[in-house]
Amino acid sequence: MIRDFEYFAPTTLNEALTLLDKYRDDCKVIAGGQSLLILMRQGLVTPRYLIDIKGIKELNYLQFDAEEGLKIGALTTHRAIERSPLMRDGYRVLAEMERKLASVQTRNWGTIGGNLCHGDPAGDPAPVLIILKGTLKLSSLRGTRTLPVEDFTLDYFETALEPGELLTEIRVPPPTPRTGAAYTKFNIIENDMGMVGVGVSITLSPGDVCQDVRIALGGSAPTPLRAREAEEVLRGKEVTEELLKKAGEAAAEEAEPISDIQASAEYRREVIRVLVPRVGREALRRAQQR
Ligand SMILES: Cc1cc2nc3c(=O)[nH]c(=O)nc-3n(C[C@H](O)[C@H](O)[C@H](O)COP(=O)(O)OP(=O)(O)OC[C@H]3O[C@@H](n4cnc5c(N)ncnc54)[C@H](O)[C@@H]3O)c2cc1C
Repeated sequence: MIRDFEYFAPTTLNEALTLLDKYRDDCKVIAGGQSLLILMRQGLVTPRYLIDIKGIKELNYLQFDAEEGLKIGALTTHRAIERSPLMRDGYRVLAEMERKLASVQTRNWGTIGGNLCHGDPAGDPAPVLIILKGTLKLSSLRGTRTLPVEDFTLDYFETALEPGELLTEIRVPPPTPRTGAAYTKFNIIENDMGMVGVGVSITLSPGDVCQDVRIALGGSAPTPLRAREAEEVLRGKEVTEELLKKAGEAAAEEAEPISDIQASAEYRREVIRVLVPRVGREALRRAQQR
């Protein structure tokens, strides 16, 4: 049973921020409701005021320019990202991730902003945005600030959003030459939350040395995790099968998975150990082609 609440449906960002500021102690924002309504039905979240931002058109857009890269309004649905013609070259991994996220029905209504703000460590978008060096614009009546995606989730279902703040935009820098990115998740039910998700991006120097690398894990720690020790295994070297295997071992070691109904922590580590070289191999192949 959902507890009664007072409902607001602002149509502008300023209106939403004003409401959020006024009711900050006992309100909740709702976008697509795909995650929030489950928590409300279970009685885990019982806001007195519900601020429905889905009708704010100015937060629903996908734009690209060569200087600033990709800008995604927080209310853009998963489906819009999946189908956007902008998701090519360096951004193709975003559409590939979206295609495996939930069902078409959920993707049609759920938003990328809602997914990130839910703070589920197993969510698919965060690891992909981390390997793409994504940043988040957070807005409130006090102004705006920008955070790297990797710093946004603080703990299980806890984010860096402060009272009165909304996530308004996700930015991804322009694709860099000779960079390849890939993502996959391991799950029991197709298109459901991953047991483990792995994203890898590799940038090659002219001599085919790994100039830059990012490895991000989902479902492997209390937050989406950047596997920095695994990255160091590859950085500055020619990427070989042996090094990819070592990177997988390092990532499995630095992960902090839990045991739950889906899998034991040991099993998750094993999946990470296997997936990092597999996804790394694909990222490398894509980097060599660009
Ligand atoms: C059947 C099913 C399968 C799913 N499978 C997957 C999957 O495979 N992979 C995956 O990653 N996810 C999956 N999900 C989760 C789901 O896709 C996302 O969590 C969803 O996109 C959330 O977006 P929303 O707009 O519905 O957010 P809501 O449910 O409306 O909000 C979620 C949270 O974010 C807050 N919020 C929303 N927007 C903002 C904003 N702009 N600023 C500040 N706070 C905000 C809300 O207050 C709430 O706390 C699944 C969900 C369902 C129901």
